[in-house]
Amino acid sequence: MRIIPLSEGSFTIDKTKLFVPYDLQNDTMKERTAGSLLVEIQPFIIVTAKDILLLDTGLGFEKDGKLQLHKNIMDAGINPAEITKVLLSHLHKDHAGAVGIGNGTDLAFPDATYYVQRPEFSFAFEKGFPSYITDELSCLKEAKQVHWLDGNGTIDGYIDYEITAAHSPFHQVFWIREDHEILFFGGDDAPQLQQMKHRFAAKYDYDGKKAMELRQQWWKKGSEENWTFLFYHDIKTPHTKADKG
Ligand SMILES: [Zn+2]
Repeated sequence: MRIIPLSEGSFTIDKTKLFVPYDLQNDTMKERTAGSLLVEIQPFIIVTAKDILLLDTGLGFEKDGKLQLHKNIMDAGINPAEITKVLLSHLHKDHAGAVGIGNGTDLAFPDATYYVQRPEFSFAFEKGFPSYITDELSCLKEAKQVHWLDGNGTIDGYIDYEITAAHSPFHQVFWIREDHEILFFGGDDAPQLQQMKHRFAAKYDYDGKKAMELRQQWWKKGSEENWTFLFYHDIKTPHTKADKG
């Protein structure tokens, strides 16, 4: 399978939950509020034998009236209309920013099937801002292209999904299996390489302890079964095998 990380840049985020662009060359963390986290925002395209998959949709920022995500996909030599499936780990604004386009009524990938956990969608509308931007999500509600998921299962015989209730109550993770290869996308349950290697319970998680324990289990199993881990928020390492990381 071919993995294409689609970086939207580096950002810091603090209690305000605003993503502030961070220039790795010229900015310093000292200038940011105490407790700020430095993160990459990085959706992925996975080219498989059957599909062109998009994993999460980034912040949804636009440049010159164009969706940055569309531009990044085209820069990778792929037409956004070629995307067949959009897999959404959860609907926080930095992961689901570009599900729609323009004033939020149309899907950004009308030719794709979107895979969304139904309880995550309801939860987003209960909670709302600042973690969720419901105006951007409302285009999913009546769209025929949305395949609503409820719990755990398998898509097309080769993509397994599982609700973790760790980073957020209805967050899901994915395993994509083809031939002898296994890709693991843990979204915000497994956002960065360093969190896989060190025991770390994050305050910003819904269940930080569970997320930490899952990461340890995945890292162990992943090294036994030779998974490739995809890290949505890692500045340096978009993807790695457990033994190399
Ligand atoms: Zn999140």
